Amino acid sequence: MTAELISVGTELLLGNIVNTNAAFLARECAGLGLSVYYQTTVGDNPQRLEAAVRQALSRSDVVILSGGLGPTQDDLTKEITASVFGSALKEDAHTRERIQAYFDARGTKEIAENNWKQAVVPEGALVLDNENGTAPGLILEKDGKTAVLLPGPPGELIPMFRKAVYPYLHRKQPEIIVSEMVKLCGIGESRAEQMITDLIEKQSNPTIATYAKTGEVHLRVTARAADREAAELLIKPVLKELGARFGEFIYTMEEKVTLEEAVASLLKEQGLTVTTVESCTGGLLAGRLVNVAGVSEVFKQGFVTYSNKAKRKLVGVKKATLREVGAVSERTAREMARGAVLATGADAAVSVTGIAGPDGGTEEKPVGLVYIGVAVRGQTWVQECHFTGNRARIREASVAAALTLLRKGILETAEN
Ligand code: ATP
Repeated sequence: MTAELISVGTELLLGNIVNTNAAFLARECAGLGLSVYYQTTVGDNPQRLEAAVRQALSRSDVVILSGGLGPTQDDLTKEITASVFGSALKEDAHTRERIQAYFDARGTKEIAENNWKQAVVPEGALVLDNENGTAPGLILEKDGKTAVLLPGPPGELIPMFRKAVYPYLHRKQPEIIVSEMVKLCGIGESRAEQMITDLIEKQSNPTIATYAKTGEVHLRVTARAADREAAELLIKPVLKELGARFGEFIYTMEEKVTLEEAVASLLKEQGLTVTTVESCTGGLLAGRLVNVAGVSEVFKQGFVTYSNKAKRKLVGVKKATLREVGAVSERTAREMARGAVLATGADAAVSVTGIAGPDGGTEEKPVGLVYIGVAVRGQTWVQECHFTGNRARIREASVAAALTLLRKGILETAEN
């Protein structure tokens, strides 16, 4: 079944408010298994609104409109949709009572006349009580087409959708969509895709989609089924297969877990503390780790050693190393990581040194050249990376690579 969204309001067109209703409704429709191919935003203009409603109904089974149900003259959604459906408007006694009760509860003595406009509904429409405002929601049906009209304020729309519209649409479209996420690090998108080409090609239900994030690849496995249990049964063998194919590249199978959270959990599990020593990322790596609540158990201290002097003084990088091979080098990254372990007594350290640009690159050491060093339980690894993009992107990619290499170091030295 197809659904389409129409957001009504000149404020939206002018960019005065952000269309969060459309994002919410689109996500909910996806979860319900409805295919949304179009979203329209239209101002409070009767001709254009009517044209938008007619066009949406001509190509989609369900049209969900938000906004324009209020008491003022420019609130026209109900009137226009009713006329498109050929329904006359009449007052709904139940809604009138609710509006009266709404104002009584707030101690309003004189109710403005135009509020009663909201008690008028299209004949034959299903009226959805508004528990957080005065304009009721409405559902109109004709010739296999449905229009759902919802008030604009998210504080009214969201509860009304959850309470009345979701169950209504779910009855119409009994299949639901469930998806699970598999998150990988340390592997590029094309290689990841190549490793599952056969699965992607033969997929129908569930489907697998790959998304590239900075330094990560996410695989979304999505199934359609009558209920969650049935969907999970379809997804389970696919997750198992992905687990077998990607092994340690998988840092989590939970949508909410971030790379830094996965690394922090691993450190906790292994009883390790870590320190960071950063040049071109200037604290960004420490910041990512500190995103994790409770990370203080494993992360006590980090260094920003931007200058050569700081690299020497704080983590003991050798003067000769800096002179002979420079700050952006494999040797410096190694000495930074080892030196940070010595300086702090942490069990592990991760270092970053590179050229984030836009200046400072040479033919030999171009912008984007970054060395990541990791020292864990007496072993050290250094990775040479070549990133592209602007300064911000190179720094973010460096942080992701640093977390990935740290994770690898922990896994390789794990005792159990
Ligand atoms: P009311 O009964 O309050 O008049 P309404 O149904 O007429 O509601 P609008 O007048 O279109 O809705 O919008 C009222 C308010 O709701 C807007 O000022 C805005 O704060 C919020 N709003 C409307 N549409 C959206 C949207 N698409 N996304 C987020 N907020 C919205």
